[in-house]
Parts: sequence; structure tokens; C-alpha cells
Amino acid sequence: MDCLFCAIIKGDIPSKKVYEDEYCYSFMDINPQAPIHCLVVPKVHIASADEITAESAPIVAKIFEAIPKIAAELGLADGYRVITNVGENGCQSVKHIHFHILGGKKLSENMG
Ligand code: 5GP
Ligand code: ZN
Repeated sequence: MDCLFCAIIKGDIPSKKVYEDEYCYSFMDINPQAPIHCLVVPKVHIASADEITAESAPIVAKIFEAIPKIAAELGLADGYRVITNVGENGCQSVKHIHFHILGGKKLSENMG
């Protein structure tokens, strides 16, 4: 399967690593939309939040266990935003589920 984030997880495409454990990998976004912008992805390929199943939900839970550690690592004590885009209308460009962590400033109240 030709997947950009699977290639990044494998190390075939370089990335600026923020955090890694058995279940997930986090790296800085190549085109940051906030002073701090990283992505968290599961090591297994799940296409989007719309594809989460009873079997894969525990992996997604592991990502949410990692997010506070990543936020602490990045110095986001004043808060941050976690976003996952889904499908065409959600403007999902990479079809491997990923959670954006955005922070480093007061973010816009407008999310849509
Ligand atoms: P989406 O639009 O699918 O929610 O988010 C995809 C994100 O992946 C975008 O914010 C984009 O900047 C980021 N991205 C795309 N290609 C690369 C890459 O090769 N390396 C990194 N680090 N980020 C990427
Ligand atoms: Zn993938």
C-alpha cells in the first residue's frame, strides 16, 4: 500500500520525531498552521476516524494516552487543540488517521 505516513513511520521518509511508543508515532507537521504543530499517528494503518472499529479503538485510545505526554514535551501547558480531519468535506489529505496537535498561541475560536 502506498501510504505517506506508513512510509514516515518506517523511516523511509524523514520526519522530525517528537514522540514514539509501541503504538504511535508523533512528528512535526511539514507545513505548520500554528507556532507548534505536530501530528500523531498509529503505527498500524487506519484510514480515518470513520474507519475506527471495536478492534482498532484501543489503538486510538493509546494515542489519546500519548497526547498529554507529547503536549508536555512541546511545552503546551497553556492549552492546545487536537483535530482529525475526515474524508473529502473534512479536507483529509492523507488517508492514514492522524491527530493534529496545534498550539503555541491563542488559537482561533472558528473551527469550521
Ligand atoms: P490532513 O490535511 O490530511 O488533515 O493533514 C495532513 C497533514 O500532513 C498536513 O498538515 C500536511 O502539512 C502534513 N504533511 C503532508 N506531507 C507531509 C510530510 O511529508 N511530512 C510531514 N512531516 N508532514 C506532512
Ligand atoms: Zn498508512
